[in-house]
Formats: sequence, structure tokens, C-alpha cells
Amino acid sequence: MRLNKFNPANIRVRDQRGGGGGRFPGGGGGKLGIVGIVIVLAIAYFTGADPAQLLGGLEQAQHGQTQQQAQGGTSVAESCSVNQYSTEACAHLASLDETWEPKFREAGIAFQQPILNFYSQSGQSGCGAAQSAMGPFYCPSDQGIYIDTDFYNEMSSRMGAKGDFARAYVMAHEYGHHIQTLTGTAAQVRQAQSRNPDASNALQVRMELQADCYAGVWAALNSDRIEPGDIEEGLGAAHAVGDDTLMEAAGRRPVEAAFTHGSSAQRREWLRIGLETGDEDQCDTFADLRG
Ligand SMILES: [Zn+2]
Repeated sequence: MRLNKFNPANIRVRDQRGGGGGRFPGGGGGKLGIVGIVIVLAIAYFTGADPAQLLGGLEQAQHGQTQQQAQGGTSVAESCSVNQYSTEACAHLASLDETWEPKFREAGIAFQQPILNFYSQSGQSGCGAAQSAMGPFYCPSDQGIYIDTDFYNEMSSRMGAKGDFARAYVMAHEYGHHIQTLTGTAAQVRQAQSRNPDASNALQVRMELQADCYAGVWAALNSDRIEPGDIEEGLGAAHAVGDDTLMEAAGRRPVEAAFTHGSSAQRREWLRIGLETGDEDQCDTFADLRG
């Protein structure tokens, strides 16, 4: 995919990477001291708690001050030029903003740009600790898209989802969750899940498939920048991150009830619907549940 030109002043970015961006002046913030980690591991040993969660809490407690530095520190332009993946992510974010903002205006729904959060290996989010193993994710409570740019090396080498369009697809999928937050779909789904816990997983799958469809709509509306092979790459990425593929890779037999993102076939299908129609109204993945 050919990258669009973008103005860093028009996108919202936060950077938790200590290194390349020169984010933490004075070398102070960003890293949890070794003593802190030892204490957390000791607490976890004696209480049986998940060390990652404890670390997340501790980091949040320690880093109120760091975050302020981060916001006043490195410029968005610097954060976006740390490496190739950062530049891509910023360009995709700008393009996604430009694609979706007018649609919200037309629909009369208030629009707010999401915040792209870069981190390296581990970071903090409004939804708890961010860790590379989780892959890119969206946090509704701070409307942040979280990306560990190191994750993409992993994604291309281990999962076989190579290429720039695969990364664009992942970004557009997370942006899809932001759309669901703004439209109120996410809140409706959470209510339906608490009313009917048995359908909780099925509803979550529909959320994921809709985000895939929205990613396809974005790609369709920016097809002037699509290059040969991009679509296959995106469909390949949709396959590589399907729950059944991930479960098989983890040595488990896929069990449909355990799927939270949908099968690879479902994800490919909804990405394809978005790509072929370019119309977000076609992304009604909940239709069959309404009967
Ligand atoms: Zn998702």
C-alpha cells in the first residue's frame, strides 16, 4: 500500500517508548526499577496473583508523572519517524481519521479521533498493562489504539502475515473498535452480554467481525493507494489472526465456543464484504442474532 502524506499536527499520538523517540528527558521515567519487579514477583509468589497485573497496577501508580513528561516531550513528528512501522502507523491513522470523520459528520454522530499509543515490550493503558504478546489492541476507556512496533517483526516472522498491508489491516481493525465505541455499538453489546451471559462469546465474535468489515470499508475507500497483492495480504493476515489458526498454532483443537474473534473463514468473509461494498452499512454482523 502506498502511504498517504500526513500532517503530524492533525493526528493524536502518545509515545511510551523510552528509546528512539527520546521520550523521557533526563532518563527518568519509563522503566520500573529492578527492586520494584522483585517485590512484585515476591507478592505474586505468596498471593498467587498474576505478576503482569500487579506490574500494571504498580506502573500506573508510578507513572502519573511520566505521562505528563511524555505529553510535553517528543513531538508527534518525532514519534512517527522512530522507525518504518511508526511511520506507517501514523500514516494509516491519518488516513483512517480522514475516511471516517466525514461519515460521522454525515450521520450526525459526534466524532473524536482515537489516540495512537506507541510502546515497546510493555506499557500502560487505560485498560491495564500493555504487553507485546497481546498484539495491537484498542482500549475503549481511553480511546487508545496501542501498538508495540516490535510486535510486527514477530507477526511477520512467526505468523506468516508479512507485508505492509497486513499491518494496515490490523490498524484499521483496531480503528473499527473505536468506531463501535463512538456509535454506541460497543456499549449495546456489553449490555446484551450482561443480560445474556450465554451469548457473550457469540456477541464478542460479531464485534470482531464488524471491525474486520470496517477495515475492508476503509481499504475500499482508499483503493487508489492499493497495490497488486495487497488484498491477498490483508486476507492472509485475517486468516493468520483467526482464532482457529491461533488455537491450532498453540497445539489445541479449535472449539467454536472458545472463539472470541471468529474463525479465519468468517474473518476473511467480513473483510471481503467491506472491501467489495465500501459501505459500512453492509457491516451488520449482528443481523442474524436479531432474528
Ligand atoms: Zn478486535
